[in-house]
Amino acid sequence: MLVSRLTSFYKISIYDAKVELMNILLVGAGLSGAVIGRILATAGHKITIVESRSHIAGNCHTERCQQTGVMLHKYGPHIFHTDNQRVWDYVNSFAVFRPFRNQVKTTVGEAVYSLPINLHTINQFFGRTFRPDEARHFIENTQADLTITDPQSFEEQALRFVGPKLYEAFFKGYTEKQWGCAPTQLPAAILKRLPLRFNYDDNYFAHRFQGIPEAGYTAMVRAILDHPNIDVHLNTPFSKEQASRVDHMFWSGPLDGYFDEKLGRLGYRTLDFERFDADGDWQGCAVMNYGDPSVSFTRITEHKHFAPWETHEKTVCYREFSRACAPGDIPYYPIRLVQEKALLLEYEALAQAEEGVTFVGRLGTYRYLDMDVTIAEAMSHANVFLTEGATRRSG
Ligand code: UDP
Repeated sequence: MLVSRLTSFYKISIYDAKVELMNILLVGAGLSGAVIGRILATAGHKITIVESRSHIAGNCHTERCQQTGVMLHKYGPHIFHTDNQRVWDYVNSFAVFRPFRNQVKTTVGEAVYSLPINLHTINQFFGRTFRPDEARHFIENTQADLTITDPQSFEEQALRFVGPKLYEAFFKGYTEKQWGCAPTQLPAAILKRLPLRFNYDDNYFAHRFQGIPEAGYTAMVRAILDHPNIDVHLNTPFSKEQASRVDHMFWSGPLDGYFDEKLGRLGYRTLDFERFDADGDWQGCAVMNYGDPSVSFTRITEHKHFAPWETHEKTVCYREFSRACAPGDIPYYPIRLVQEKALLLEYEALAQAEEGVTFVGRLGTYRYLDMDVTIAEAMSHANVFLTEGATRRSG
């Protein structure tokens, strides 16, 4: 069932003595599960969370390396950024956040450039000394393809705003590696995540609040889950038998997985990480992208630089490779090409008709969600449940 179609099972107020409390099953102990679980547990409901992996926090799981002491982002780096004051206050009530500014670099050919594309990148790439207005004029009048009025694909968006030279250098090869298809097939929305700046601001994100929890994301999620009404079972794959014992279920696993992929599989990209350790400082920054198609990985991340408040003699780096997700792999990025979108509509119709289940989060709704959006949506799912009620599972 999707939230927009919730039937009013009961009205609830946490101050209402006649509240009917439910047994609720949450599948997945990532951000969605933790936030929904905590809000409902606080309202008095009994929450059981089953998690098939051996740890909580989903893909933002962090773990301190025993040999080096470095805090590792086990499923790739996560930097928290948001403009949502409520979400920021929420995460700060469960963790101490340290300010973190993501200053990404990219290696293209024989040179290293600054991302997102900014005045430094433009001046370095074209060998110029433009001031902001000159750079804007240069890009708009000599590079950008203004004949593209309504960019639909990733490629059109890039050609429209930065033109072919910057596109070829910074986006084309990287995107082919990252998504495994031509940028002509991808939606413009993917590139719209990245700003184009005519000043020297190299902050990758434009959000007001940015940071990384000092003790890692797993500690933050553990604090969210720390409530007497929440019971977490790790290494516990979902079973239909568990679902039959509860009044309502929130599913944050893959949408197609819930239906045993009976209509076919929704496509994802997965990531492989190749770890290497070194002494000192290996690349001098947290994230180094590689735009060239001849380099098979997309980027190298050096994890001690995600905690600049710590000092470590050793360093841990990961080469990151993207590939199509096969059965058993961890899904990362929903692909959402035309064929996936058609299949998604069919699965959404099934989800809509499913009594007693709310589909949540990145995997449960098959969308490319940042952490702050995941949390905002989880809060809203929980609040809808508390204020409007929900359908019960039939059996
Ligand atoms: N991108 C690129 N070159 C880069 C960085 C990003 O072409 O050096 C493209 C790529 O297609 C990526 C998209 O821009 O999926 C959005 O970038 P973002 O950093 O938001 O990607 P994330 O890894 O967070 O999904």
